[in-house]
Amino acid sequence: MAITEKERDADYKALVKEIRVLSITLYCIIKDSTFQWRSKGTASVSIRGGVLHFEFNTQLWDMLSTTERMFVLLHEIYHVFLDHFGRLPPVTPVVSRAADLANNSALLKHFNFKRKKMKVLGPMLCWPDTIIPGLPLADDLSAEEYLWILEKNEDKLPKGEPGNTGVAGEEGSIDDHSKMDPKDLDKFLKGKMGEMKDDLMEEGLTEQKAQKELEKFIQDIPDADARESLGKMAGTGVGNLESVDDIIKKRKMTWTQYARYLKRSVLGLKENTVWIPDRRTHSLAQQGLFVPSYKERDGRRGRVCVVLFLDTSWSCDHLRPYFFGFAKALDPEIFEVITFGFNSKTYPINLANPQYIGGGTSFAFQSTFDKVTNPSKYGFVFTDGDVMGMSDITEPERWHWFLSANNTRAIPAGCAINMLKNFD
Ligand SMILES: [Zn+2]
Repeated sequence: MAITEKERDADYKALVKEIRVLSITLYCIIKDSTFQWRSKGTASVSIRGGVLHFEFNTQLWDMLSTTERMFVLLHEIYHVFLDHFGRLPPVTPVVSRAADLANNSALLKHFNFKRKKMKVLGPMLCWPDTIIPGLPLADDLSAEEYLWILEKNEDKLPKGEPGNTGVAGEEGSIDDHSKMDPKDLDKFLKGKMGEMKDDLMEEGLTEQKAQKELEKFIQDIPDADARESLGKMAGTGVGNLESVDDIIKKRKMTWTQYARYLKRSVLGLKENTVWIPDRRTHSLAQQGLFVPSYKERDGRRGRVCVVLFLDTSWSCDHLRPYFFGFAKALDPEIFEVITFGFNSKTYPINLANPQYIGGGTSFAFQSTFDKVTNPSKYGFVFTDGDVMGMSDITEPERWHWFLSANNTRAIPAGCAINMLKNFD
């Protein structure tokens, strides 16, 4: 028998109530939302009149089990509080897939959904282990990291739009990411997170419990970037960039700008092969920027080698977006980029398919650096600074440190130090 609109309404409202049990903070984010059934399109989330607005294709909705409906609803909510629409470039099929990969794998882990039990969504949605045939990806990456990988493997991706529901929809994907205005979303999130503690108290929590609940929610967010910005909005002090003192006072620069600086310092200002005069080199050195020896490179026509070390100890997963942002911004014609992770030892990271090994105390990596054969090489370290055993660095002028916290005691004198808060 056909499902009536009334039944769908009741079903949707029951799901929203169940979300209150899963996470009271999520519930507060969506409790005032509006929704609408559509015969066209797929699912979507947008801001309408200052509140969240969901749309669902009835044909798709009716095909799904209750569990799968919950998955779709949470999928939309995850796009919202992970701020995919504000963080990622304008929507394309590849951007859509990256955001969906981050969402879908996070939902599996967070709420213990079983893919096998999702008869419709299981085979339909994109997942890290199946998106690129023959190249299973880690299931704990952010949307930016998935985007990086997908862009590198674009030729291997299935053609057309992600997912194919067979529903009489517009593009055949599970949800339409183009309906959300990032500016509206930013405003919504700022307002919502600012009032969240009051909202939680309205739901019957004591002030102390509301604060704890909110902190836990933000800590649990799988994506370091989103965690940080929501933490700031909610004033929970989660995210440690806020409390850091500036070491170098300078305007915020993006990785692209920074990479351009590097390029200019290697190629000369006109971006040809004329080397920068000493005077220019000197002024760049004063700014603490990357200054390879032009004499050294003069004899060799090879690329300058940038060896990136990412701290992957437990406290450092918020560094990954910076590491990726920088690696991505470097011009491959000028720079050879080699990437490592380190925790208690160093290990190579394949940017096209990164796997991060978590672990305890960070450790030295000079011996890894020594094995890089390109003589025109520079070490760039991304860490919270809590690094042990760095005394074996032999040429500190070749090392640049990018820190999220003001822990500089382990860093050998003569290394350049940059604070990550100065970068986007
Ligand atoms: Zn989506």
